[in-house]
Amino acid sequence: MTNARPDRGFRRIATEEAWCSPELFRLFRKELDEKTIDEPGFHSLYGFFASEAPRAKDLARRIQSLGDERIADMDASGIDMQILSLTAPGVQLFDPVEGSALAVRFNDELAEGVARHPDRLAGLAAFSPLDPAAAARELERGVTKLGLKGGILNGHTRGTYLDDPQYWEVFEAAEALDVPIYLHPNCLPRDMVQPFLPRGLDAAVYGFACDTGLHALRLVVSGLFDRFPKLQIILGHCGEALPYWLYRISYMHGHISKTGRYPGVGPLQRSARDYLRENFIYTNSGVADPDPIQYIHKVIGKDRMMYAMDYPWQFEPSEVAILDAMDLSPEDLAQFYEGNAVRVFKL
Ligand code: MN
Repeated sequence: MTNARPDRGFRRIATEEAWCSPELFRLFRKELDEKTIDEPGFHSLYGFFASEAPRAKDLARRIQSLGDERIADMDASGIDMQILSLTAPGVQLFDPVEGSALAVRFNDELAEGVARHPDRLAGLAAFSPLDPAAAARELERGVTKLGLKGGILNGHTRGTYLDDPQYWEVFEAAEALDVPIYLHPNCLPRDMVQPFLPRGLDAAVYGFACDTGLHALRLVVSGLFDRFPKLQIILGHCGEALPYWLYRISYMHGHISKTGRYPGVGPLQRSARDYLRENFIYTNSGVADPDPIQYIHKVIGKDRMMYAMDYPWQFEPSEVAILDAMDLSPEDLAQFYEGNAVRVFKL
């Protein structure tokens, strides 16, 4: 395989693609058996990881591959390159000391896999957010020593969101390194999951979008982007629907931030809408639907949209044909599939 440009005129770069170290897979299975961590959302979603269902076994095999099977699946589905991240919740399931040690090992392992297929794979660095100094150090090591292209943050960590300034060291490092942080979903935290569970709405159906969208908005209203104005956060799943809410969020936040009713809400330098347009980049992971993608094109802009499949969680080889046929100019389609990812990840 070479870097030669395909006949279609652009490479398809998939930007939210999951990988699970075999060691992490064993740790997840051990936790599912022993239930030592109080994370009902994790136990609900990942229960099938340990099951013998054919779909679970296929998924488990695919997600652990950094080699032939992954490359063959990419060839079969028209994907030229994958940006890999450690699958959720990654090291964030574990306490910060263990999580930080695991992040080092998994980032090394990912970088070795990428090095075997440098024209097909790239990766993002995992880190343990509740140990801010170690998280910043590991992001910097991942980018400067291992050649990783940014960081992966899987939602909340044990119910903690990163809008609290005590956790901002990793964002400071990301801005200084000029790399993005991908804010990917995690299973819902303990305090939020119960109303979702009885109807199975806790994970990819809707829970992920609620929690990840909430996390993104907490970052916006915290003033994080006033402190680090160049910081770039990537959101999947068409921005967890936030582009649709730009008007109402900005309108209402503009009012409540002046009332003094909420100690954690103060005036910001820009409107909420501005941060969502200037500090976020949106991928369509899991959403092979031209309408919301074209909505992002319209309200956010052609420079801030990237392609993602969400392999292997959502491995649908036919989906790229739907997106190839979107009503975008050839230049904007090429930017969606390739150009923006090349710029954002410095490929
Ligand atoms: Mn995903």
